[in-house]
Amino acid sequence: MFYVGIDDTDSKKGMCTTYLGALLADELSRYTSIKPKLVRLNPNIRWKTRGNAGICLEMRKKPKGVENLVLETVEEYAEIDDSNTHPGVVFYQGDKVPEEFSRFYEKCLHEVVTIDEAENLAISYGAEICKFKKGRGIIGALASIGSIFKDKTYELIAYREKKNWGKERKIDKKSVFKMNERTFPLTFNNVDNERILIAPHSPCPVLFGIRGEDPETLKRAFNMIKLGERIERKIIYETNQGTDAHLINVKRISDIKPYSSVILEGEVNSLPRVIKGGHVIFTVTDGSDSIECAAYEPTKEFRHIVKKLVPGDKVRVYGGVRSDPKKTINLEKIHVMKLAEMYREENPLCECGRRMESAGKNQGFRCRICKTFKGDKVRVKYPRELEERIYQVPPRAMRHISKPLVRELRTNTPKSSCA
Ligand code: ATP
Repeated sequence: MFYVGIDDTDSKKGMCTTYLGALLADELSRYTSIKPKLVRLNPNIRWKTRGNAGICLEMRKKPKGVENLVLETVEEYAEIDDSNTHPGVVFYQGDKVPEEFSRFYEKCLHEVVTIDEAENLAISYGAEICKFKKGRGIIGALASIGSIFKDKTYELIAYREKKNWGKERKIDKKSVFKMNERTFPLTFNNVDNERILIAPHSPCPVLFGIRGEDPETLKRAFNMIKLGERIERKIIYETNQGTDAHLINVKRISDIKPYSSVILEGEVNSLPRVIKGGHVIFTVTDGSDSIECAAYEPTKEFRHIVKKLVPGDKVRVYGGVRSDPKKTINLEKIHVMKLAEMYREENPLCECGRRMESAGKNQGFRCRICKTFKGDKVRVKYPRELEERIYQVPPRAMRHISKPLVRELRTNTPKSSCA
């Protein structure tokens, strides 16, 4: 087997590492069979351009001159002039990927690693690395080679002709909604209310990407999209998108590491409050510590759910951990496991059905009509506007790697059940 890993070729102004992968896959598939993988890594790291993705091309055999082709393509297309772009390429040949590479992939999902760590590991197994500028991309490139997906999905990505890069995308919105109607839930995150989510807004080469459970459904979905421009090429990546691969269960708040993404069970111990910018914050306790959880403004209607929590609610929170300066869980999902019972005190009811009124200070309550008396106020259960179930941020605010609830229900393998 021959593996090519590539990362960090794009910037906010253009390019997309998946496009380089598509160019190379098209060229190299003339010589060998290729499995292209799109690998999402730790979504909490600060260097990412968008969704922290690297790519890997797995080949049955090594095509002649493959290294030169890859490096020339990176040189030609990477956004090298951007101060935040530091491309990296890793080549590895072997029967299978070393287990340490796979452990490195796991680490890159949950922690922040250094360029040296990637370099030393790659070299110790005879992998060839190539760094452009700082070469930070070798981290994602090596992790992509080492990636093993416990759960996986696919993404079909269609690319634009170069002359259209940066111009408005000509995609018939109605056809996207129709495609969604016909293929959901085997495809997911296509639309959100009135918006279509398959097309990015950056000036990159991607025209649209459809995410789904299997390549055949994606090909069907692709044929349903009506376009006003030509497609240059397309590719189907196997990917860990939509799988929650980044989340790990933690028992205690003290176990939470900065920049990780966690699933934590606890009890709400403060009323949610809205802070400047429209973000909603509340705290959860595990019995000894407390941690802030945030539903940020872009999560829109999800915030209205979070605002309905009260102290005493038992919850399982899912999200990435920010640590500036204190740790905060940036909520992706919340499982309301047990709602606290809420009561309010009311004047008692008379047998006749009327609400009694105060008979004077410390003198109980009376019914003015029946002339009956009762001593104490009654506790009345307050209806909660939340259900005991999982709530998730809307698709437009979802991270690429987050598992949509529809997948959670379909595949019946919620990470939440392994706490
Ligand atoms: P896009 O999604 O458009 O491909 P991106 O969001 O993947 O862009 P990059 O430009 O690739 O962002 O930048 C991410 C950088 O962070 C890469 O250099 C990658 O090697 C590095 N990186 C990835 N995971 C980690 C990690 N766990 N620790 C440290 N660095 C990482």
